[in-house]
Amino acid sequence: MSELSQPDRVTIAHTCQDWAATYNGGPLHLTRHDAVRYLADGHLDALTARHGRDTIWQAVAAYLDAHPDTLTAPRTTQAQRAHRQAERDTRAAAHLAAAKDHHLRNLPYEALGLIDRAELASPTYRDFDRYRQYVHRKVPPFTPADLTATPHRYRTPLPLHSPVPGPPVVHHGAADELWVYPGRPVVNGPWPAATPEQCTTPDDTTWLAAGTVLVCTGCGLDVT
Ligand SMILES: [Zn+2]
Repeated sequence: MSELSQPDRVTIAHTCQDWAATYNGGPLHLTRHDAVRYLADGHLDALTARHGRDTIWQAVAAYLDAHPDTLTAPRTTQAQRAHRQAERDTRAAAHLAAAKDHHLRNLPYEALGLIDRAELASPTYRDFDRYRQYVHRKVPPFTPADLTATPHRYRTPLPLHSPVPGPPVVHHGAADELWVYPGRPVVNGPWPAATPEQCTTPDDTTWLAAGTVLVCTGCGLDVT
């Protein structure tokens, strides 16, 4: 049993968004508990096999707690669910195409970032590890820094602006549109800008949590 990855959590979110309302209320008077059971046992077999039933039940219940509107949203038809999935797959395919382009231009780290982004758009679309393996054939051997006698400093986890993966940050700064490594979190706080894309001070940073997390003071983007 292992910890849920970010793509695992996206799979759970998509499943809840597509099916939770179908398993709540209705002529059968289904309860929230029924919804958790049908979602976890009926739609998340692959994750259950990897992480165990308890973990997936808890994760589904936690998602529904955080997003109660998914239970009361209008029920979806098969056509609507297929349409949503097709949109997710289209986004993933676009990121994979960009990843291939970067791979061919010998930009392996950018390619890997784009593969991560594709997987978050539609975790079930492809075997993304296979693409990573392709890229890793080109990545130069990594020589780690010598950390002898360097004390450990543990990064303090801070509450995130969007704990369940929301839309990835597209760029940083309203004017500069600086590139952001895919998957960068945004730390919760009273930042002047609502999102990194609207940030007006993308070069002003501050250390939080006893100097373990560096964030932008304009929008809370984690730039550690
Ligand atoms: Zn910022």
